[in-house]
Amino acid sequence: MGPRVAEKLAARGLTTLQDFWLQLPRQYEDRTQITPIRLLQPGVAAQVEGRVEAVERGFRYRPMLRVAIGDDSRSVLVLRFFHFRAAQVAQFRIGARVRLYGTPKPGQHGLEIVHPSYRVLDEEGEVALGEQLDPVYPAIEGIGPATLRRLIGYALDRLPDDAALELLPRELRERLQLPTLREALLTVHRPAVDADVAALIAGRHPAQRRLALEELLAHHLSLRRQRISQQAHKSRPLKQMPLAEKLRKALPFKLTGAQRRVFDEIRADLAKPSPMLRLVQGDVGSGKTVVAALAAMLAVQHGRQAALMAPTELLAEQHLNNLRRWLEPLGVRVAWLAGKVTGRARKAVLEQVANGEAQVVVGTHALMQEGVAFRDLALAIVDEQHRFGVHQRLALRDKGAGGAVGDDAIVPHQLVMTATPIPRTLAMTAYADLDVSAIDELPPGRTPVQTVALSEERRPELVQRIRTACAEGRQAYWVCTLIDDSDEVIAQAAQTTFEELSQQLAPLRVGLVHGRMKAKEKQETMRAFKDGELDLLVATTVIEVGVDVPNASLMIIENAERLGLAQLHQLRGRVGRGSAASSCVLLYRSPLSGLARQRLDTMRKTHDGFVIAEKDLELRGPGELLGTRQTGLAGFRVADLARDADLLPLVQELGERLLKTSPELAERIVSRWVGGAARYASA
Ligand code: ADP
Ligand code: MG
Repeated sequence: MGPRVAEKLAARGLTTLQDFWLQLPRQYEDRTQITPIRLLQPGVAAQVEGRVEAVERGFRYRPMLRVAIGDDSRSVLVLRFFHFRAAQVAQFRIGARVRLYGTPKPGQHGLEIVHPSYRVLDEEGEVALGEQLDPVYPAIEGIGPATLRRLIGYALDRLPDDAALELLPRELRERLQLPTLREALLTVHRPAVDADVAALIAGRHPAQRRLALEELLAHHLSLRRQRISQQAHKSRPLKQMPLAEKLRKALPFKLTGAQRRVFDEIRADLAKPSPMLRLVQGDVGSGKTVVAALAAMLAVQHGRQAALMAPTELLAEQHLNNLRRWLEPLGVRVAWLAGKVTGRARKAVLEQVANGEAQVVVGTHALMQEGVAFRDLALAIVDEQHRFGVHQRLALRDKGAGGAVGDDAIVPHQLVMTATPIPRTLAMTAYADLDVSAIDELPPGRTPVQTVALSEERRPELVQRIRTACAEGRQAYWVCTLIDDSDEVIAQAAQTTFEELSQQLAPLRVGLVHGRMKAKEKQETMRAFKDGELDLLVATTVIEVGVDVPNASLMIIENAERLGLAQLHQLRGRVGRGSAASSCVLLYRSPLSGLARQRLDTMRKTHDGFVIAEKDLELRGPGELLGTRQTGLAGFRVADLARDADLLPLVQELGERLLKTSPELAERIVSRWVGGAARYASA
């Protein structure tokens, strides 16, 4: 191929033979038989052979060519072209023999196919049919489908034999009745006439399962290896408990059983001379912060530092307030570092962080910036992990090691918290580099949030509903979301809603927060709402993460049909945090799609974040569930975590075994699929 083609292919990650092998078809075309025109069905692709009966060239609105094809079944099919050359027109002589492939749809004169692929055949004689299904590859800009097919064919002709190619142990393949890699690739690219096309298109053919298994295994192994290399670092054990005990006793509540269990798991990790790598999953309101605070006390007790990083200022500030309230009475000094801390104040904080005066440091991304140096960071806590990437977590860790981490570095323990529970099997793959704990119990005294879905037309009733709630001394949220996800348009809509509601609800006090406001205004409004100076808060989804106002008991979410389950669950979690009976109204615009209806139903029926996560996985697949930044799991070539979720337990079992018994094999599997790209090179 020429350099221009090569460049375009490289831009899509196609450089080696192996890249071409793994470039799988997204569809198949069956040219192994000919369908009589009479038997064609709208929407079902088919191959047809017939003769040209009429040709019409039109220029009504734009150039158009229509060709009528007839066959022995005495029916007519119309081919329609909008782009064509004179030479093409000339080919379609009356009586010419044409073989074509395409998907018919109803037209003015019976069925028609727009831009079929076709060729004009010689007058007489047999023309062989296809012997296998034709693969259709994902389009690559600037490369014709025929060229791409040829290149992939070229690569396939150079597939090594099993001895050189196969990496999965024979015993495993036999047990699971999986084909070899070579067989699997040939099946997927060149399926035989009698192949199970439906299974192939659904991605559930054994050949595809085999490829997905190896790919999932590769990613799993790569995360496990990352873990092993991290765990090879050293950390100083943190064991002394008195301060944590003191905090526990001083708390205004009793820890739940789940909080105690998870804290015990953390303690056990911290007591070891290797770094803790633990993820705490816990539903909104399950009380993760206090567990983090307890862990921080071990670091402080040892005369060292802990840092807590949150994705937004709002959230970080809330943490700051909580930690100050809990820790300062114990004589623990808590420092605050966010983007808005500048000038002299920043200099002063940096100094305290550097000289160890700051024992616990709370902040945003600002914690990872240059110029921030800890005296002795022993524990790095990252809240709402899904908002951060793996890299940021590691960047915070590196702060504790005083720079890039070498082999014998001493690194801080790491604690990661997320309120986006993901199903267990998925967690074990997505977070294969972490140990996972779950706070699967809410503090007592919370009444479940009553959830209803209302059609948009009933919006006026809500005004009354808000009045009633506020008359009882409660507060409410009104969340604006939009189809358009530009900040500006949403802010505008929130502004309008804010004005309308302020008017309709007078004299109730209404506030507004959206992403386009200055951080300071946002904070101020949030504080006012928290302190009960506002009755209703109109907000965009900026309030999604972590905001805690126990007195709020009513949540109204506009355009709820447009939000994913995880987001709805997060938003709903803003209410039901106190002891008052709370409710959540999901406003939707009819008609609802099937999926949207299922989502709203799920929200009405359950409050359990783990159940919702399972359903979310089922409804829309894990790509979105996880976000692409959070794990190395984005960008599979073959595997689809939703479709192939049932393979995960096997992947995990197999992964552990390979790492133990044949690390060099594991190495080869990883480099085949995950590549030398070394996503985790810095780990
Ligand atoms: P999340 O897990 O969503 O981060 P938080 O840590 O913000 O939850 O806790 C939610 C609220 O519950 C806070 O006001 C916190 O003080 C309170 N809380 C935490 N643990 C308990 C408990 N065991 N009993 C009662 N309230 C608790
Ligand atoms: Mg939280």
